[in-house]
Amino acid sequence: MNLFSRIAAWLSQIFVTNKVGDWGTAGGEPQFQLQDHNSDPVVYKDAVVTTPFVEPTPPPPPAVHADPAPFVNGYWRLARVVKAHAGRTGGAIDPEFVVEHTTDMHPDDFDALVAAWQRAPATPAQGACAHFLIGRTPEQGVIQFIPISRNGNHAGGGGSFVINGKIVHPNLKAVGIETHCAGRLRFKDGVWRWGENDGKGWVAKGAPIPTNEVEPLAPMQNVYGFHKPTAYQLHMLDLLEADLALTIRLLTDPGWSVKPNPPDQYPRWVPQLRKGAPVLGHVHLNPTDREDPGPELCARAAKIPWFTKPGNV
Ligand SMILES: [Zn+2]
Repeated sequence: MNLFSRIAAWLSQIFVTNKVGDWGTAGGEPQFQLQDHNSDPVVYKDAVVTTPFVEPTPPPPPAVHADPAPFVNGYWRLARVVKAHAGRTGGAIDPEFVVEHTTDMHPDDFDALVAAWQRAPATPAQGACAHFLIGRTPEQGVIQFIPISRNGNHAGGGGSFVINGKIVHPNLKAVGIETHCAGRLRFKDGVWRWGENDGKGWVAKGAPIPTNEVEPLAPMQNVYGFHKPTAYQLHMLDLLEADLALTIRLLTDPGWSVKPNPPDQYPRWVPQLRKGAPVLGHVHLNPTDREDPGPELCARAAKIPWFTKPGNV
């Protein structure tokens, strides 16, 4: 670098330093205007850090989790343990699958569901539960009711696995994960509503569901929609299923199939099961009277990069 270049570099440094000090306060928000003689002034709002720091969106979880022991005695490292009533906890199982559900309840009923699963069922046959319940917010968190080594009695209503040529009840082979979503909604009087059939017909219940939480369902998108999972729920599902992939046994039959509850006619939004990827929705087993976990989670499940253990596909 000759002397002339050094002086030019030194002068440009001074020029840059002076520009950095050129703060403005237009609109009440400090701004930095870069004076560029080759173009119009460019406003860099981000150059001033005077507002509170906003936590960036977390990056997607790694495909393989580094934690060597994500489960201890069948309980997940990130779950809050709330033990289900003994009447809702079955015998020992050796899980090979995950069945995803949505609670299909009004979002306000989260605490009521947690309380219900700690109570005795009305009859032994009615002891429904699940291994995991993922709340809509970090405050609700992920609750584990039953260790993954026990029957969680979650995939009822018909439908079976066919493993090595034998019919097997899904609860004997699957970890059940409930994501707290309201399921199918109806657009009524200008708002999205959750409701129930009271015997005479469908009746809207609870507060309306915000529009930005609803995925309208074509071709009747003006009538029906599904309650979307939150970003928190999708993140926790990613973490939980990545840890399950490292923990539960290898499939004894990679050619396993599902024998659904007849008539086996799936809604058009249900994707085909992918061979070798044993994450499925309750609707795959029981399309007759179940729609959970809904279109978004079904589409997600169909794309999960599952087994990462050697020998898996
Ligand atoms: Zn279900």
